[in-house]
Amino acid sequence: MYSNDLPTYHVAGVGAGPANLSLAALFPAANLGRAALFDSQPGPAWHPALLSPGVRMQTSWMKDLVSLVDPQHPLTFMNYLVTTGRLFALLNAQFDTIPRMEYVRYLTWAARRIEGIHYGTPIERVTYTGDGFELHAGGRPVARAQHLSVGVGTRAVRPAWMAGLPESVLIADDLGWRIDGLRADLTAPIAVVGGGQTGLECVLKLIHAGFTDVRWLGRRQWFQTIDDSPVANEFYRPAHQQFLQQLSRGTRRRLVVEQGPTGDALTPGALRVLYQANYDRMLDLDRFPAVLYPGRDVVAVEADGDELVMRCDTPGGREVHRARHIIVAVGREASPVPFDDDLAERVEYDDDGDMLIEPDYSLRWKGMNGHRIFVLNRARYSHGVPDANLTLLPVRAAGVINAMAGRAVYNVIDELCPVRWIA
Ligand SMILES: Cc1cc2nc3c(=O)[nH]c(=O)nc-3n(C[C@H](O)[C@H](O)[C@H](O)COP(=O)(O)OP(=O)(O)OC[C@H]3O[C@@H](n4cnc5c(N)ncnc54)[C@H](O)[C@@H]3O)c2cc1C
Repeated sequence: MYSNDLPTYHVAGVGAGPANLSLAALFPAANLGRAALFDSQPGPAWHPALLSPGVRMQTSWMKDLVSLVDPQHPLTFMNYLVTTGRLFALLNAQFDTIPRMEYVRYLTWAARRIEGIHYGTPIERVTYTGDGFELHAGGRPVARAQHLSVGVGTRAVRPAWMAGLPESVLIADDLGWRIDGLRADLTAPIAVVGGGQTGLECVLKLIHAGFTDVRWLGRRQWFQTIDDSPVANEFYRPAHQQFLQQLSRGTRRRLVVEQGPTGDALTPGALRVLYQANYDRMLDLDRFPAVLYPGRDVVAVEADGDELVMRCDTPGGREVHRARHIIVAVGREASPVPFDDDLAERVEYDDDGDMLIEPDYSLRWKGMNGHRIFVLNRARYSHGVPDANLTLLPVRAAGVINAMAGRAVYNVIDELCPVRWIA
């Protein structure tokens, strides 16, 4: 079908994070041909800049790349544990949720067993040729494919007020390699802006590193923990996704926004670890090394000598805080999709500016001619809260594979549900 000898795949994935890894792991069962993934990272990795020792997953180990749709697959987390000889040690460590480092080890183990992953290959441009897609890296075409799977993940948000500030303001992703430099003065006030899990992990890291004046500012009224109750977890199952698909886009968005605290919040165990570390250090210092400032929305920052002045909106009006360093952990946003101008113009958007993504995760775009673009981890407001995390990865991958195959390669059955939803 194609004129020259570029490698040609049934589906090519941009990004080899957990979303596309799950797809590539499950894809061979469809017997559709070859799949390939392209990732800019030099090798298997998962948020390497935010991987501090001791941090834990927010989801169960059962939410691996394959088990939810194919528990007999060779790439289950259980198979990883058994074949690498760590099953009994992990069981006896009695983790509530496993270390994030263990999940990274598992992903690395799985990635090495999946064919067709090309690391060190940032895809700069994807073009539509009328006969499929062409992926470009290093200024030249590297692959062609019938279908595309976009799994480019997220990147740290840099708020507008960061512009022009000195390097004493840094994003959380840079704390790991900058922390030794910051330790020159452990008594200097250091602010962490952002009340989410990453902010929490930064505060903990700073306490462990010996900082004695850490100020944690969060926008919400308190530092909210995840609602992990059984009924909250009902949102993280296929049955609820199917329910959402019957609703109008506006209703879906409203429900998903309300469901935010079931995922976009702190792990209770991690907050306890922080409180205990803070208490332990208080016994030495006679005061807490970290102080929490909820309800502070940092809206402007300026440098004043070697200090930084933060202006915050609070429920009671304006408040000013000063610090020597600021660590910014205000959330993540979707990474750019490397479509060329022609392809980008073909994509259809909804009234909120989000790409229009069908129930099977394919993008609505003009001139598709049988070629599909699947978009993973970008349909939170249309497909529900699990779309932005790991909980239903294999279910989503199975849906994509079924759509490509035009038949049920995988059957996802979720009928035993005690809740009758209404909206
Ligand atoms: C620190 C942290 C901890 C988290 N912990 C959990 C958790 O415990 N449980 C949970 O459910 N969710 C968690 N999440 C949410 C998490 O982001 C997602 O669950 C998951 O990483 C999404 O996978 P992904 O494959 O869509 O994206 P990512 O994991 O972000 O992977 C995207 C990949 O695409 C690559 N890429 C991007 N653009 C290009 C390009 N143009 N060319 C080539 N490659 C490209 C990147 O290098 C990256 O490897 C966490 C998020 C963070 C930041």
